[in-house]
Amino acid sequence: MSNFVFPPAEIPSAPVRGTDARYAVRRIFCVGRNYADHAREMGSDPTREPPFYFTKPATALTPSGATVPYPAATRDYHHEMELVIALGAPVFKATPEAAAAAIWGYAPGLDMTRRDLQAEAKAAGRPWDTAKGFDQSAILGEIVRASEVGPLARGAITLAVNGVQKQRGDLADMIWSQAEIVSNLSQLYRLHPGDLIYTGTPAGVGAVAAGDVLTGRIEGLGEISLTVGPAE
Ligand code: MN
Repeated sequence: MSNFVFPPAEIPSAPVRGTDARYAVRRIFCVGRNYADHAREMGSDPTREPPFYFTKPATALTPSGATVPYPAATRDYHHEMELVIALGAPVFKATPEAAAAAIWGYAPGLDMTRRDLQAEAKAAGRPWDTAKGFDQSAILGEIVRASEVGPLARGAITLAVNGVQKQRGDLADMIWSQAEIVSNLSQLYRLHPGDLIYTGTPAGVGAVAAGDVLTGRIEGLGEISLTVGPAE
């Protein structure tokens, strides 16, 4: 055992349906835009240009059911409901077929966003880290093994705030399929078990306030919830 000057941080992890074993999280990748209707609402042209990515630190992982404080440094805290892919095998420069075989599980996720900081970063040509990779910004539900639910190529993906539906899409409307995303990302990184990929959000993103309760659902997979607490 090594000697550390501070105790090492706990390994971020998520529950897996049907087992006591947890899925240890290594990295969190996110697809920048993957539904045509959301690309349009953000002012982009939804063509099949190659997907682009940003990351969140694994320490941003927050379980479904949590109450998180309204984050610092924003006045425009947004929800983005997403399907999350959990990898279970190493892949590098993989074909879509090989990439599909590395998908170990799925979970519902919320890519929480400081939209005002993202808009400033976009306008200034700066990175998105402060807009996307802040504390408690990666909400994740229970992981369900792909062997249990199949490929999840279609099905409704929805998000309600205080019981009122705000986002609705279908997994079949993704611009890039799951296999294409994993294959493309594997051209850039050596991917490993423990790597999560948030696959983009459908239209209807919007701001939330302290006291709001968010409930997301993916057909055939399950639910995710988040409560927004008072500002820090
Ligand atoms: Mn997103």
